[in-house]
Amino acid sequence: MNKNLRKAVIAGNWKMNKNRAEAKALVGELAPLIKDAGCDVVICTPFTDLDVALEATKGTNMGVGAQNCHWAKSGAFTGEISADMLTELGVQYVIIGHSERRQYFGETDLTVNQRVRAALDAGLTVILCVGELLEQREQGITREICGMQTRVALGGVSQDEMKKIIVAYEPVWAIGTGKTATAEQAGEVCGFIRSVLADLYDQATADATPIQYGGSMNAANAAELLSQPDVDGGLIGGASLKPADFAAIVAAAGK
Ligand code: PEP
Repeated sequence: MNKNLRKAVIAGNWKMNKNRAEAKALVGELAPLIKDAGCDVVICTPFTDLDVALEATKGTNMGVGAQNCHWAKSGAFTGEISADMLTELGVQYVIIGHSERRQYFGETDLTVNQRVRAALDAGLTVILCVGELLEQREQGITREICGMQTRVALGGVSQDEMKKIIVAYEPVWAIGTGKTATAEQAGEVCGFIRSVLADLYDQATADATPIQYGGSMNAANAAELLSQPDVDGGLIGGASLKPADFAAIVAAAGK
């Protein structure tokens, strides 16, 4: 397994935080701290901050992403945003299938797949979230859950389109809880997801796909998690709102 085959990606998921002025200030603080990053850096902001983030990140090494998109191009879907609306703004990334979407907004593996398809069709790079609930880990079915979520989400995604897919392994019990998976647990499941990708496509595609870990990653635990051979970066929630902490994670990923 050769980590050099892929660049680490550190992505911040701001969730429903930061108004427009705060978003501008956060990007301004972050930009000098991560300018020499040895990994790709992305910030995923609320929809209402996207244009501010795009403007503020101009000339920096930060990409900008949204946290969801709808599968239809347009239509009677009150409250939703299409993938084309994001690309029109200049957004490059989108998180799909985050566990908070699955938990609170009825997202299913099938709708995750539809959203992935729409995002790829619009030219976005997808950060595809998969991960097991605590009960599922305790039942010993983590691999089955993560394997199924990955397989369903990637239905109809071609080998070539995998260049635009980043998988984020996010054990649900570790998100926003301060309870991090051990480096071994993170590495083991990321390795398993890579084997699923090899089965769905081929080993070269699996080796080229970044697989992030997400779940209470912070400045203190990032280096150990990121040292795992199959962990290619992180999806960061809480710590992405603190410039020094996020920058420390970016630094750890670039080593
Ligand atoms: C997330 O929102 O994807 C996440 C991993 O959150 P946190 O880092 O706060 O656990």
